[in-house]
Amino acid sequence: MSLTVPALLTPSAGAPFERGTVERRELGEHDVLIDIAYAGICHSDIHQAREEWGKAIFPMVPGHEIAGVISAVGSGVTKHAVGDRAGVGCFVDSCRECEMCLAGEEQFCLKGNVATYNGKTYDGTPTYGGYSTQIVVDENYALRIPEGISLDVAAPLLCAGITLYSPLRHWGAGPGKKVAIVGMGGLGHMGVQLASALGAEVTVLSQSLSKQEDGMTLGADHYYATSDRQTFRDLRRSFDLIISTVGADIDVDAYLSLLRFEGSLVFVGLPENKQSFRVFSLTGARRNLSGSNIGGIRETQEMLDFCAEHGIGSVIETITADDVDKAYDRVVNSDVRYRFVIDTSTIPAS
Ligand code: NAP
Ligand code: ZN
Ligand code: ZN
Repeated sequence: MSLTVPALLTPSAGAPFERGTVERRELGEHDVLIDIAYAGICHSDIHQAREEWGKAIFPMVPGHEIAGVISAVGSGVTKHAVGDRAGVGCFVDSCRECEMCLAGEEQFCLKGNVATYNGKTYDGTPTYGGYSTQIVVDENYALRIPEGISLDVAAPLLCAGITLYSPLRHWGAGPGKKVAIVGMGGLGHMGVQLASALGAEVTVLSQSLSKQEDGMTLGADHYYATSDRQTFRDLRRSFDLIISTVGADIDVDAYLSLLRFEGSLVFVGLPENKQSFRVFSLTGARRNLSGSNIGGIRETQEMLDFCAEHGIGSVIETITADDVDKAYDRVVNSDVRYRFVIDTSTIPAS
C-alpha cells in the first residue's frame, strides 16, 4: 500500500507554500523508507518553484537536499539498514545501463535521470521532493551520512556540497592551484571549505566585502568585491580555476580575463538567460569555458566521507515550515548565511 505523508507544496508557479500531503509508493524489494529530518533550500528549488527554467510540474514539493534516518527497508535491500542515517540528492533513479550510468556519472544519464522532484519516474509518475516527512527511494540512490556530521548540516551537502566537490576534483584543485569561487552563497560557502580542505589557494569573488570575515573563517585566503572594477585589474591572469555559483547574469569576459594560461571558468550557477562572451577571451590564453552538474552517486558518497574526515558541514539557519516563503525571498536577495534548512518535524499541521 502506498503511504500518504505530510508535505509542503506550492500549487502553481510562484504561489505561497501550503501544507498538504503526497503519496509515496509502496516499499519495493530494493527500496528504503527514509524519515526525513531536514531538507535544505537550494536556489534551484526557487528557480523551479517560480518556473524560471521553463514549464514545471505542479503541485510541486521541492527539496533535493534530504537528510534523515531509514525506518524501513525492502526485502532485497543490502546497502542500508533500519536506523542508518541517510541522504538523498538531486535524482532518485537513472537508466543504470548507459555509458554514463555505468561510469558512475548518473548525473549525466543519457536517458535522463529521474529528478527527486519536478520530474517523472520512468513509468510517468510525478516525483515529490524533501519538503516532506518521509520519502521512498531505491537503495542505490540513497547515500550514507557518516557519523560525525549532524543531519542538519549534512542535508545541504547532498546538492551544494557535491556540486562544488565534483568540479574541484575534476579540475584538480589542490596544492599549488589557485581557485576562485564566485558568489558566497549556499554553493559558494561549500566551495570555499572544500577547495581549502583540498589544499588549493582560495579566493572568494563576492559582490561586496560584507561576508569577508565568514569567508576567511571558512578557509579563504583572499576575498575581493566584484563591484570594485579594480578587482578585475588586480587579479588579471591569476587563477587556474574559477567556479561561478551565480544564478544571475555575469560578465563572462571579465571572469575569463582572470584566468591564467589554460585556466578554466566553470559554471555551476544556472542563470535563466543566455550568457555571452568574446571568443578572443579564450583564444589569447588557450582558456577553457565549461560547466558542471552535481555529481554521481559514488562521488557524492566520497564527498560525504571527505566532509566527515575534514569536519566540514554547511553553515545553516534552521527554519520551520512557516518560514519557507520568507526564506525564498531572502535567498533571492543574497541574504542567507549560508543555507536555509527546513526542520521537517514542523511540516505536519500542529
Ligand atoms: P545562493 O545561495 O543564492 O548563492 C548564489 C550567490 O551568488 C549569492 O549568495 C551571491 O553571492 C551571488 N549572486 C547572487 N546574485 C548575483 C548577481 N546578480 N550578480 C553577482 N553575484 C550574484 O544560491 P545557491 O543555492 O548557491 O545556487 C546558486 C546557483 O547554482 C543557482 O542558479 C542554482 O540553481 C545553481 N545550482 C546548480 C547546480 C549544478 O549542479 N550545476 C546545483 C545546485 C545549484 P555574493 O553575495 O557573495 O555575491
Ligand atoms: Zn540544488
Ligand atoms: Zn543512464
